[in-house]
Amino acid sequence: MGKPLMRIPYTDLLPPAVTIPHSASSVSGALAALHHFFRAPPPAGLPSPTVVLSGAGLSVASGLADYRGTKGTYRVNKTYRPIYYHEFLASHEARKRYWARSFLGWNSLHKAQPNAGHHAVRDLGRLGLVSSVITQNVDSFHSRAHPEIPTLELHGYLRSTACTSCHNEFPRDTFQAELARLNPVWTTFLRDALASGALDTEDPTEKRARGIRMNPDGDVDVPGAPYSTFRYPACPTCLTSPPRLADGTKAVVEVDHEGALSPASNAGILKPAVVMFGESISKTVKDAAEEAIDGAGRLLVLATSLATYSAWRLAKRAKDRGMPIAIVNIGGVRGESAFFADLDPQQSGARGVRVEMSTESLLPTLVEELRRSSGSRGVDAQPAAVRPIRHDDAVVFKDMLS
Ligand SMILES: [Zn+2]
Repeated sequence: MGKPLMRIPYTDLLPPAVTIPHSASSVSGALAALHHFFRAPPPAGLPSPTVVLSGAGLSVASGLADYRGTKGTYRVNKTYRPIYYHEFLASHEARKRYWARSFLGWNSLHKAQPNAGHHAVRDLGRLGLVSSVITQNVDSFHSRAHPEIPTLELHGYLRSTACTSCHNEFPRDTFQAELARLNPVWTTFLRDALASGALDTEDPTEKRARGIRMNPDGDVDVPGAPYSTFRYPACPTCLTSPPRLADGTKAVVEVDHEGALSPASNAGILKPAVVMFGESISKTVKDAAEEAIDGAGRLLVLATSLATYSAWRLAKRAKDRGMPIAIVNIGGVRGESAFFADLDPQQSGARGVRVEMSTESLLPTLVEELRRSSGSRGVDAQPAAVRPIRHDDAVVFKDMLS
């Protein structure tokens, strides 16, 4: 039993990226290396499927901002500091500010779509090469792009709210409608912002020019906004039936005549169903992520700097199991040299790949090449889910490809 895994931001500078193998600095070299990565038999004793570990960079082409620039600094807003769970729990004012920004950001997030990078992951699944996905992203794009591939959302998801007392979850869409009803002035502001295109544009530069900054958690920054006027509802379950507090007394869950939570309430507080910074990842999710790594023979890291410890330790676990690791990310990756230190410099990519390229341009081409080669080798493109995968079938898998 380890300590609970807490989500905390990583603020150190990241190392510069190194290309592995050397030939992978060109697009054709990168494609060849990743082809070897997928097509070579896995190391002895490991199963053949690949698990994907993805991060914020994968959703940049969907119009969501990445947290970090290439040196690990915050990209969109250098002073951006996400809210911590303890602040959210402790402060009515902090929650007003959070929900106001989230209210404004929801439309853009809701309208955004999975991009070519997510669809390439879907296609890798259909080729029988990717068996599961672990994502740090909270935008639900993976499950929308490829519902047939099991996806573990390591840091939760924005599509629901969750009660911090009873832990029931509710759809974020319904919550948005409640926020609109409770905050007519903000709703007018939102409508005007949408009409002006300030929230509508997917161009971060244009958004910024119109005085609005959007962060990847769907959180929008409006300089000078009167957050203290914002109102939000209570958990409907706890409002009907207030829970007991730890000391056995009945909690206070109160709303005003319109249904906005009163500051006197000490339970029934809704939060986004994401793991906030300073909040622990549940044991169930932590165990499921480890199982996803242990059930695979290779790890494909997509568009993440592995800056969060919860993600980095999964890559470390893969390395410790002897799994080949391929990393496609623009910018440095936390501790990346350790993932490749023991590789033969002559290896083709079968034992490890590191390329600094964008997922949405590289992966679709990779899928095309893998599809062509699997066609010529007589392998059909069945979804991973219908192809039986045995954990000791490295030889069988090799035979299928030869
Ligand atoms: Zn509740």
